[in-house]
Amino acid sequence: MIAKMLRFIELDRHTPDKREAAARAGDFDEIYREFKPTTAAEQAGRCSQCGVPFCQVHCPLQNNIPDWLMLTSAGRLQEAYELSQATNNFPEICGRICPHDRLCEGNCVIEQAGFGTVTIGSVETYLSETAWREGWVQPVSPRVERAESVGIIGAGPAGLAAAEQLRRQGYQVHVYDRYDRIGGLLVYGIPGFKLEKDVVARRADLLRRSGVTFHLNFEVGRDATLADLRQRHEAMLIATGVYQAREFKAPGIGLPGIHAALDYLIASNRKGLGDTVPVFEDGTLDAAGKDVVVIGGGDTAMDCVRTAVRQGARSVKCLYRRDKQNMPGSQREVANAEEEGVDFVWLSVPDAFAGDKKIESVRASRMYLGVPDATGRQSPQPVEGSAFSLPADMAIMALGFDPQDLPALFQTPALKVTRWGTVKADFRTMMTSLDGVFAAGDIVRGASLVVWAIRDGRDAAAQIHNYIAARQVQDKGARASVAAE
Ligand SMILES: Cc1cc2nc3c(=O)[nH]c(=O)nc-3n(C[C@H](O)[C@H](O)[C@H](O)COP(=O)(O)OP(=O)(O)OC[C@H]3O[C@@H](n4cnc5c(N)ncnc54)[C@H](O)[C@@H]3O)c2cc1C
Ligand code: SF4
Repeated sequence: MIAKMLRFIELDRHTPDKREAAARAGDFDEIYREFKPTTAAEQAGRCSQCGVPFCQVHCPLQNNIPDWLMLTSAGRLQEAYELSQATNNFPEICGRICPHDRLCEGNCVIEQAGFGTVTIGSVETYLSETAWREGWVQPVSPRVERAESVGIIGAGPAGLAAAEQLRRQGYQVHVYDRYDRIGGLLVYGIPGFKLEKDVVARRADLLRRSGVTFHLNFEVGRDATLADLRQRHEAMLIATGVYQAREFKAPGIGLPGIHAALDYLIASNRKGLGDTVPVFEDGTLDAAGKDVVVIGGGDTAMDCVRTAVRQGARSVKCLYRRDKQNMPGSQREVANAEEEGVDFVWLSVPDAFAGDKKIESVRASRMYLGVPDATGRQSPQPVEGSAFSLPADMAIMALGFDPQDLPALFQTPALKVTRWGTVKADFRTMMTSLDGVFAAGDIVRGASLVVWAIRDGRDAAAQIHNYIAARQVQDKGARASVAAE
């Protein structure tokens, strides 16, 4: 099936020996096999151009998918690309990592009719890669340069999409990020086998060439307060994402060998980028030869299990408290992990982590799904006397993320947050409780998706433009009335 062109390793690598050998030899077949023009045209031509474009409705960017599929099938690739990038700042990234099965492709009418979806994400990637190769992707060059500047905290997809949109309007854009590279979770969270890092670096370079100024290794709260930055810019955008690992309490949780998912993934990504990573090199965050147990059932857990497979783990197990049907992660990601030999231990929770000087096993109990809770989901209940133990040299906790305490970090108590700690922003204007300070992406929604971060960044840029324009009209009016007095 063509949807499976994306990336699959052969089934005979699924035994631990072969998997380890494959990982060590570095011969995973990761990168999207080249999507040939004929395949793209064939796929695009399968679109029935149905009256109600469910794919478009279910794309957070409302990409005009049917039209760019039609242009692709007619061989009018440049026009197809122009249309696809008109609503999406990073189509080659979404084409690769959107959970298509939950968004556009999952709602394709042909998929619903049982004939297999048009592989929209792959066509989107193909179009964008063709555009880069042919030189159709060019830096932004605004028609007028404006004197006003906007400061953006966070160089993840929300901040970057806003930066590009604001440059189009001619604003002077400054992006502040505490990391040393541009991209946020695109660089340090999402593994390179899903999103190659040079794809992100290429966009970062384009933004630089578009006139965006980046201040890297700059942590707001440490290197400047929010108040300092408000003095420097006409408006601010907070796009800092969510990074606080959710806590899990159980006996033995502090044992060496138990790690937070993001620490593990950041180390692996840094290693892949060629950095010196002492915690990887000394074996602490390297799964090679280990029995690994990942706890959690979301996409981050899937990234951890698949990374551990690639590092040559002896065994990789994923412990999740509900069943497969109720996993929060993309079913496609689960299928990928299963195909790569990950063992899923459904309906199980850890009770304790056991070991002498370091973790040696995870003690767990079986669960069953009881009556639905207030959210309508069946809540897991323990099965009496069902305790069991799994050998583990490494346990990775992938239980989700919460926001940091931004009002404290930014030394701005007037910045209002919700009871979950996400920044409160007016849903229409996207302005926070502080005048001229806007917010977008995960820090408003909670942990979400790249495509939603892009959407928020675009919307925030439009609202910032309206805000600055309205302020200018007000200032002009005030000056005129002073002059008239
Ligand atoms: C492991 C993992 C895998 C994922 N996989 C997918 C996927 O396959 N598909 C998908 O659609 N989504 C995926 N997501 C979700 C997606 O990455 C996020 O929803 C998205 O990156 C949010 O964008 P953002 O711009 O809001 O925040 P982020 O990408 O988190 O960027 C925030 C930026 O703000 C910076 N920052 C934070 N605090 C400060 C400060 N005080 N001063 C200066 N800078 C600061 C950070 O360094 C960071 O660069 C994944 C998430 C994780 C954790
Ligand atoms: S941005 Fe994501 S949801 Fe929208 S068309 Fe592209 S792959 Fe589908």
